[in-house]
Formats: sequence, C-alpha cells, structure tokens
Amino acid sequence: MFTLDKDASGVTIVVQAAIYLRISQDRTGLRAGVQRQEADCLALAARLGVEDAPVFVDNDISAFDGRDRPGYQALINAVRRGVTHIVVWHVDRLYRRPRELEDLLDLVEQYPVRIEAVRGGGFDLNTTEGRLMARQLVAIAAYESGHKSDRVKRANRRLAQQGRWHGPARYGYGPGGVLIPEQAAVIRQMADRFLAGESLRSIAMWLNHSKIPPLGTKNGTSGLWYPYTVRSVLASARISGQRAYSPDTHTDPAGGREILGPGEWDPIITPGETARIREILADPGRRRTQPARPSLLGGIARCGKCGAGLTIAGHSRTTGRTLRLRYTCQRDPSRPQRGGLSIDATHLEDYVTGRVLHRLAHPRASSDTASPSALLAQVTMINERIHQLDQDRRARLIATSEYRAGLGAAEEALAETSRQLVATGGAIALHAAPIGDPVALQSWWQALDTTDRRAVITTLISTLRISPGKPGRSFDPSRIRITYRR
Ligand SMILES: [Zn+2]
Repeated sequence: MFTLDKDASGVTIVVQAAIYLRISQDRTGLRAGVQRQEADCLALAARLGVEDAPVFVDNDISAFDGRDRPGYQALINAVRRGVTHIVVWHVDRLYRRPRELEDLLDLVEQYPVRIEAVRGGGFDLNTTEGRLMARQLVAIAAYESGHKSDRVKRANRRLAQQGRWHGPARYGYGPGGVLIPEQAAVIRQMADRFLAGESLRSIAMWLNHSKIPPLGTKNGTSGLWYPYTVRSVLASARISGQRAYSPDTHTDPAGGREILGPGEWDPIITPGETARIREILADPGRRRTQPARPSLLGGIARCGKCGAGLTIAGHSRTTGRTLRLRYTCQRDPSRPQRGGLSIDATHLEDYVTGRVLHRLAHPRASSDTASPSALLAQVTMINERIHQLDQDRRARLIATSEYRAGLGAAEEALAETSRQLVATGGAIALHAAPIGDPVALQSWWQALDTTDRRAVITTLISTLRISPGKPGRSFDPSRIRITYRR
C-alpha cells in the first residue's frame, strides 16, 4: 500500500495511494470499459510505486442525485488515515459539484493529498495553481449537471415589471433591455469601425468572418449579417440608450426611428455617436474621414521616456535606399520632453505578434477567474476535455449517452467561456480563436484584419513600453517591456 519517495526538499516521504472508481449508469457493454478504467488506475498507482493500492468503488450512482456515496466516504476516511495520493481515471469521477470540491479542499488543508488522474494528468491541491485547475474543471462539470445562471432571467423579470423596455430582445439587449455584454462589445466595435470609415458591407463581412451570429439564428434565418442588418443596428436609438417612437413593426426603418428621449437602459455608444452615424447614413458623402488604416501597435506601444503613445511613420535612413517604417514618439513643441524615441516597426510588430500568439497557445493560470488569462486557460482545458471525450468514445470507454452529455456540456461551457472572454476584453475575434493550438493560431492570425488584431493584443496586454535604444544598434528586443493582463 505504500512506498518511499522524496519530496522537493529531498525529505523522504511515504507514498500511500488509493484508487477511486465511480461507475455511472452501467449500460450494455460498458462493464469492459469499467474494468479498463480500473486497470488504468492500477497501472498509474504502480508507476507511483504502489502495487496493492486499495480500490474504492461507487456503482451506478449519479454524482448529481445527492445520494450518499459509500465508496467516496471510505476514501475520505482513508485520506484521514494517511493516504497521500488519490488515483482516479478522470477527476470528474471524484467530484462533480463545486460544493463537493470545496469539501475536498477543506480536507486537503488538514491532510496533504495529491490527485493523480489517468486522463488529464495530476495536480496538487496544496498549491494555488492546482486548486485553480480543480475549480475550473469542476466549473465545467457543473455545466454537465444542467445548472445555469438565472441572472439574466431574474433581471428580465424585474425590468419587465417596471415597464422600462417595450418590445422583444434586440441585438445588444435581452428582453426587458438587459445589456448583454458580449453583444454590446460587438456593437461598440461595429460603431467604431463605421465611424472610422468602414462601409456597412465590410462590417457585415467582418462579422460573418468572425462567426458572430446575428439574433434569430435559430429561427430558420441564415445566421449571416447583411449590410441592411448592420445598418438597422447602427441606426437604432436604443444602442445609445434613447427611446424612439416604435410603430407596430419589428424592423427598424433604414434611417432609424424618431428619437423621443432618454431611455432607462444602459447605453452602448453615446447619443452624439448615434447622431453622427445617422448623419453619415443619410448622406455617405458627408464622411469627414477617409477609411482609417490603423497600424498594428500605434497608440498601444508607448514611449518609455515620456509615456506618449507611439505613432507609425516612414523614416528614410541616411544611408537609405529603402524607406523603413518606424514607431516614433512624435515631437511636440509645447512639450519639450516629447520626441526622439523610435523603433523599427516590422521588428516590433513581429516580436509582439510572436508573444501574443505564444500566450494564446499556452494560456497561464490566473488567480482571477474572470481575467482573460483564466478564461483562455479554461478554453484550453475544455478543448482538451472534448479531445479526451472523442478518444474515450473511440476506445469504447464511455457509453454514447455519456459521450453526448459530456460533449454537449463541454460545448456549452466553451460557448459561455468565449462569451465571457469577448465581454471581458472586447476582442470579438477571440470568439472563434483556436486557443491552445499553435499551428492553427498562425493561420487564424493571418486571416484577421488589423482592427481585430489590435483588439486581441489589448485584451491580453495591459502595457507595452519601449525603452530608449542605443544609437546605431540593430533591433534590440530587450527594449520592449510587455505587461500582460492577469
Ligand atoms: Zn516620448
């Protein structure tokens, strides 16, 4: 039942392992899968140096029906008696409700124990990172029980009772006028793009390319954006928090409805922006600006001397045959401290792009579960879970019903996490990003336009500072200081 091992500080410790198996609905042909799970667990215990680990089993008990789990209780007692390693086939065998995990974490406070899983690897519940991983996994498992947030439902009912919002859900808002953050982020970018000079057509193409569905996709419509749907969203008074005269029609007139006054719901853009959008829609010739061609890092990269945002400029070198683009701190006569700093644009962009793609390929765990890093890590974990489910299905380790339930839950969790990610950072493009897959990320990035790339960068990076360079030096990456969002 035990073997000797050394811990990180070289102190000899006793490894005692116990195996826990939970067998869900044992349908036809699944018995073999269970035996295989047990064999896998015994093999893993053997690799830990424990040949005769005790096996605790709960049979035909759903983790969600709230009934006692005698095998689990016996396992907990074994931990109290000194078991240091719990071996499971997958952590979802061990606990599936957040409450059960918290009980386990309480236990770990008194009895250091490590979870070793055949699928998904091991983690140490005594470390912050291990606890975070466990909480993220149990959050995914909680979806499988069908628990859903009723935040939106409750808010809808309250607002409807107060009679604040008339009519059905519209893009950006649920019924009752409840702001939907991820849709609001989409509207914010639609307005920014339109005001920067993009056409309705190019905005529709961008939305379709980003795989952002319009409302009503499930009701037999195409699920695609068209210039006129973009137009009706942008022209609406509601997105700037204003009430408009609404006759008995469900479609907005092309130029927008007559504005009556302020509404009681949250605005996404300002009334001034709505006025400007309507002006341009009425007469596209009145655009004051040419379509903006933003640089990748203009305004994002900042001067390490004075803090000003760098702008891109052509710079012919004294020796120069070629015109090289550089990000520079522009001189400002009224502010003598400004100016003088610059860095090669191509090199800086390549470097920052590399760091951002690396970050997306290998998301870090974060103590703030709502942070972009934590959400990215969660997406990676869910994708791994889907991959495992596929493998287990093919190896006939799980029943079809179990596979379908798991896959449905994982996909729902993935969609929810993506929505949170978009709502957090406003980077619509992350909605369809192949997070965790370095190769696919390269082609995904290639297909993004500069506006999307900038949004992805500012979702991940909080500051990008460039320190002064030494004259005559070639590109020096040590001048670049990136601070990531946690
Ligand atoms: Zn400066």
